[in-house]
Amino acid sequence: MSRYFWLRDDTVATSRYSGDFDAAHKWGLPGLKNCPGCGVTWAGAGRQYPAVDLSLIPEHGEFEEARPEPFPEFVRLQALVRPLAPPNSELPPGTNFGPLVGTASGQFGPFTWLGHSLMIIRRDTLDSLQAAGVRGLLGCKTELKFRQKTPPDILELQIEPRGLLHRDCLPPDVAPPCTTCGRQGLSRPDDPILDEASLPTDTDLFRVGNFATVIIGTDRFKDAVEQGGWTGISFRELPVRS
Ligand SMILES: [Zn+2]
Repeated sequence: MSRYFWLRDDTVATSRYSGDFDAAHKWGLPGLKNCPGCGVTWAGAGRQYPAVDLSLIPEHGEFEEARPEPFPEFVRLQALVRPLAPPNSELPPGTNFGPLVGTASGQFGPFTWLGHSLMIIRRDTLDSLQAAGVRGLLGCKTELKFRQKTPPDILELQIEPRGLLHRDCLPPDVAPPCTTCGRQGLSRPDDPILDEASLPTDTDLFRVGNFATVIIGTDRFKDAVEQGGWTGISFRELPVRS
């Protein structure tokens, strides 16, 4: 059975590189304004599909500005994107699509983070991990404008939500998700536990489905990173419970 690790920025390692970037995804679903079910105005974090190219639909201009929209308009826009997104994606408010657009400078290490839930990767690192047999890595082009003349080849991985946090690590009185918009007002537990039956068996890298800012790698991913000497990720093993 696999072991599972929570991946975060190893700031000691990443601070050895001067690489820096400021970017956002090209398109996104709007937030939801005053959900008719729960009344909340919200947009989620950590749902990013850089491989999904909204330029394929004529309405792509409607996904360029972040703003909240009423439920019927949100549902209309969500339906336009659905055929382009991976099957069974939830696509909650605030889901982002397309390449990272922005500016970058400096020397990039193997992994560079924007916050704790967005990671970009050098192409040589990705090639090495794939050659080592790490499964489920989907490298996507970025549209970062570099100041230097010979820019590094930097990709973003599309890391899809799979698996769930186990109910034992959530507050006992937690309310079920809103039946209209799917929102569940959770704060991240300090000590996450993964729900064994929910975990994917066909990929070595994923986000937690009910807490998408948490990125999980298997022991196969961790071993390949460490054997390649690729720095920039700290690994914390999480318990798994049935
Ligand atoms: Zn709701």
